[in-house]
Amino acid sequence: MEHPENDEAYKGLTVNQGIEQPSSVNPYLSQRKRPKRRRFSAGEYVEGIVKGDITVLSQAVTLVESLKPEHQALAQEVIEKCLPFSGSSIRVGISGVPGAGKSTSIDAFGLHVLDAYGGKLAVLAIDPSSERSKGSILGDKTRMEKLSVHPKAFIRPSPAAGSLGGVARKTRETIILCEAAGFDKIFVETVGVGQSETAVHSMVDFFLLIQLAGTGDELQGIKRGIMEMADGIIINKADGNNIEKAKLAASHFRNALHLFPAPESGWTPQVLTYSGFYAIGIKEIWDMVYQYIDFVKANGYFTYRRNEQAKYWMYETINEHLRDSFYNNPVISSMLGEAERDVLGGRATSFSAARRLLDTYFGEKRDGALSTE
Ligand code: GDP
Repeated sequence: MEHPENDEAYKGLTVNQGIEQPSSVNPYLSQRKRPKRRRFSAGEYVEGIVKGDITVLSQAVTLVESLKPEHQALAQEVIEKCLPFSGSSIRVGISGVPGAGKSTSIDAFGLHVLDAYGGKLAVLAIDPSSERSKGSILGDKTRMEKLSVHPKAFIRPSPAAGSLGGVARKTRETIILCEAAGFDKIFVETVGVGQSETAVHSMVDFFLLIQLAGTGDELQGIKRGIMEMADGIIINKADGNNIEKAKLAASHFRNALHLFPAPESGWTPQVLTYSGFYAIGIKEIWDMVYQYIDFVKANGYFTYRRNEQAKYWMYETINEHLRDSFYNNPVISSMLGEAERDVLGGRATSFSAARRLLDTYFGEKRDGALSTE
């Protein structure tokens, strides 16, 4: 019957028998295992990266960010093999408090440098709070509307790895991978909260500090150390009826900079006003950055700073490793509580308690009694 539902016997309320299940269209399907995502060898990663394959680059960055020891070992091999292809970029740190206009500015800066100088741009980020907030807002693609769809731009949010040192190290390693993939301009974004600026400063050639014009006392809010790190201070939102205030703030910053000792680079940090939103004054900022690069390449400071940074990261990595090895050690972690109580209870001095823990760690490590890693 063509329309069984018209039959008298058919009632919508009765449960009709179902039809027999057809056999599988593809009888082999059930036998086939789901294909695993193929794991590349270090050589394959490097080959893909050097070819500029963004998918491979992204996967390699994920590997760098992974906490699994086997991923870490592979990541280190990839990074080491990428090293000879890296280094030939300009690395610019961009920092500012939330709301200073970092994402708006980076969008405008990115479009300008790609348009004016060609090449490829990677935007990375360092946000030590990203683990707490489960995902970083820095380097978030949705915040950089135009750049995120630009074919020559690669935007990667901050790794969520816990300690600032850990996050920063991963970003530094990602720089190497990006450079090997042909990115000749690297922006590293961070929030202006103090420590993360030091981390960014230790991996870039030029450190740009975004400021806002305030009520005239803006200088009080920013730490001297951070201002001293800046190779350029740029005052955003110099538009509409904010222009005069921005100019005034700029002159305050210029005066304040005079009070600091001359930077090692021999470069005099400049203060400029601009509007990221209306794209005013962007060219001047990048003329300044490139002028600086020419200046420090000519006087040797460019290479000097990069070498210092390479050394710094070697020691940082050693420090981090030693700290982790110490605190993650089961014997030590079982002793820490008591040591703390002894110090607080006046039964031991801070130094003697520390000494005891260190002696235990090194002594037993020497005897091989401690199971460390
Ligand atoms: P971030 O938190 O530092 O990344 O800051 P955003 O780029 O998200 O900008 C914060 C707010 O300031 C947004 O509402 C922007 O539209 C606004 N903003 C950013 N740049 C400018 C600018 O040059 N002029 C004006 N008037 N507003 C801006």
